[in-house]
Amino acid sequence: MTESPLTAAHIREKALSLGAELVGFAPVERWREAADVPENFHPDHVWPLTKTVIVLGVPVWLPIVETAPAEWGREQYTITNTLLDAAAYRLAAFLNRHGHAAINISRDGYGDIDVLLKTPAAAFSHVWAAHYSGIGRVGWNHTLLTREYGPRVRLVSVLTALELPGDPLLADELCNRCRLCKKICPAQAFSEETGESYARMDKLACATNSKKLRKSFRNPCGFCIKVCPVGNDRQLFQSTDCSKYFREREVLAESPDAAEFRDWQHIRRYGGLPLENE
Ligand code: SF4
Ligand code: SF4
Repeated sequence: MTESPLTAAHIREKALSLGAELVGFAPVERWREAADVPENFHPDHVWPLTKTVIVLGVPVWLPIVETAPAEWGREQYTITNTLLDAAAYRLAAFLNRHGHAAINISRDGYGDIDVLLKTPAAAFSHVWAAHYSGIGRVGWNHTLLTREYGPRVRLVSVLTALELPGDPLLADELCNRCRLCKKICPAQAFSEETGESYARMDKLACATNSKKLRKSFRNPCGFCIKVCPVGNDRQLFQSTDCSKYFREREVLAESPDAAEFRDWQHIRRYGGLPLENE
């Protein structure tokens, strides 16, 4: 193990070669300067050697998210988590091999949904790390919104003792405060108080819904992810009409084989068990 000069450009290239689609660098000072996150969740509280957090992101594909609640979303969730955890581990190994101490923080950071029902928080927020690394901005509903994929990204972090220049923060808000995420949430998990920048979130309600979906192998929920109008992926996948999600129930009640929803309905019939209310 030898200490050798590694630049941010080397590390970014390495992270991309390991499968990341989005990469950002956040100096640890950004947590102190912004004070959005309680101090015991700061990266140098989680691991005192930390000087920089390297955040990796991969998208989830909108057409798959739109099939929710379906087993395809569960598969995509597993694939992206596995990819991110492997990439972050290998990036930490790469840094350690070059003499720069590093650890990866795994993607989810909790043992099971049952844990979330009792203690609804992981030890570290990849979402805020991604915000401070310039990958995106935290939206009203506490998800990370990106220009490329809106909130349809999965994230992981590598903490390193290597000091690296931070990427510029995104200057513009991406969230338009449309509240479509609140409107579609099946658990009514979002509420708001006048003057607050972010929604209040009932994490227990969200976790309870997720547990219910898991019994049918159709978790995670992801409704607030699919409905968000932000993200260039909406043009790529030719799905810019978010009202479609709100008329679905009514149209299918009238006509279960309606052409507009035939693909989603087909996918939902396979791979998972019927939902409790089906
Ligand atoms: S759905 Fe609307 S309010 Fe919710 S995160 Fe997206 S842009 Fe913001
Ligand atoms: S994942 Fe589902 S239940 Fe949880 S907040 Fe989003 S829409 Fe609501």
